Amino acid sequence: MRHSDSISPDYHNPRIVNITGCNAYDATIVWAPTKSLWFVSMALVGILGGYYTASIETLVVFLVTTTITLCFGHSLGMHRRFIHHSYECKKWVEYLFVYLGVLVGLAGPFGMMYTHDLRDWAQRQKKSHAYFGHKSSLLSDFFWQIHCDIELKHPPVFKLDASIRNSKFYHYLEKYWMFQQAPIALVLYLLGGIEWVIWGVCLRLTASITGHWLIGYFAHNKGQSDWHVKGASVQGFNIKFCGLITMGECWHNNHHAFPDSALLGIKSNQVDPGWWVLQLMEKLDLVWELKTPDDLPARAELVPSDTHH
Ligand SMILES: [Zn+2]
Ligand SMILES: [Zn+2]
Repeated sequence: MRHSDSISPDYHNPRIVNITGCNAYDATIVWAPTKSLWFVSMALVGILGGYYTASIETLVVFLVTTTITLCFGHSLGMHRRFIHHSYECKKWVEYLFVYLGVLVGLAGPFGMMYTHDLRDWAQRQKKSHAYFGHKSSLLSDFFWQIHCDIELKHPPVFKLDASIRNSKFYHYLEKYWMFQQAPIALVLYLLGGIEWVIWGVCLRLTASITGHWLIGYFAHNKGQSDWHVKGASVQGFNIKFCGLITMGECWHNNHHAFPDSALLGIKSNQVDPGWWVLQLMEKLDLVWELKTPDDLPARAELVPSDTHH
């Protein structure tokens, strides 16, 4: 399907339903104890313990576990498959990838989906609270995003599709997402002792949660852009040179333009490791129907970024 085949007036997320009077700006920011203490305890043990146990070996443990969970889990599992359905795959692949995504330590699958969808919806509204677009200073945004939640006074309705709403596996992960670090920690402990746990769990979570927030901050504040979403209160930006460490997620201007594309680095110089993995998996018949911008309906509100004024 080419762009011209169908024009949709606006990108529409089927899980978010606008109801009369709902808006994205009447809100309060409240401290979220679980999320906050989870991060603080991981950061304390990770940074202090990491300082005393640093070695080439522990660095390798950190890099390997971080790469696997961010690439297969966060980017390919949670974001490109679970949230956006940007490619098809066998069910066990989806379950494995979403499990790896839970291991990133941000939230359970439904929690991730809700946070993503609400932010995404808010950013497309004409007016939205500064929380959604990371529009306050770096320090206060760090506090907001990592230690707090936003409570909308008039939220839209969020409804899960039946296929995932009825999944026992996802409900289990949602309830026990923090505990999923335990089996990993045990394996790391048996293989390499406490220092492997510090680097492969505590420091990895600290880096992943901080990195996820930092990329979100820059991807909505500064960078390069090819597309402008008319009428949206928040635009996305591409952050150069971050393709490798973000698994391709840094091409956020592209993502705002083509949310359901499995390809994030659209231009040839936009490095997208997640896409490389998908192409390899396609050859192995593990995934198929990878969507690119050309497969998505054109959006009337999407214009090249230099013509919008
Ligand atoms: Zn965004
Ligand atoms: Zn997304």
